[in-house]
Amino acid sequence: MATCIHCQASSQFLTYDALGLCHHCSPQHAPVIAGAIAGIAAEAGDRHRQLVAEKQLASLETSIAHCKVLLRYPALSVEGAKADELMNELRGLVTEALENGIRHHWLSARELAGDYRGVGEKVDVYAKGISRVQDLASFVEDATLVTKAVTVMRAERDAIVFEVLFKKAQLAEAKGNKKRAKELYIEAEFALKKDATPDAHQSELIDYAEKQIERLGGRPKPGSA
Ligand SMILES: [Zn+2]
Repeated sequence: MATCIHCQASSQFLTYDALGLCHHCSPQHAPVIAGAIAGIAAEAGDRHRQLVAEKQLASLETSIAHCKVLLRYPALSVEGAKADELMNELRGLVTEALENGIRHHWLSARELAGDYRGVGEKVDVYAKGISRVQDLASFVEDATLVTKAVTVMRAERDAIVFEVLFKKAQLAEAKGNKKRAKELYIEAEFALKKDATPDAHQSELIDYAEKQIERLGGRPKPGSA
């Protein structure tokens, strides 16, 4: 015998609709369920045409809100799938869209930074990319991927800045400008030291810069500059 997906009543004196609601629950709950299912279907149709991660994530946010309505009816089956299965599927799509968005902003920053010669411009490009990645967090419940990406993007930016400054320092030294060279080595080292997550490669570079600074007479004493 059928059991109502809302009130769980099971009786031969009740009639059940196609969703599995008894005739007492159907008038109130069937429109709610139908609205949520239609909303999810409409979003899926729209999302198909969206290439921008932010728009996909906004659409998935709406779909998840609709799906939360369906979760109130755990026994409900939508085209053979339970609401929690549908939710898992949507969360999977969120992760996918988030990863695509992060990759897009990250690679754009890296590519643009490569086009610029100036340190300030490279830093600006990364700042914009990092801010776009951070904005993606507003669409998702779990921002772990965003946090990790931002950390790595900052480290990448700092490594690029280091390289540019280090090369400038070498050039200054080759031209005989030892004072300027030392300043640039110090600046280069600082670019890596301010990074909160130094890895082994970075500490090697820091040591290397430190050797150049010492070779050129060491750091200026405080107050003597
Ligand atoms: Zn019922």
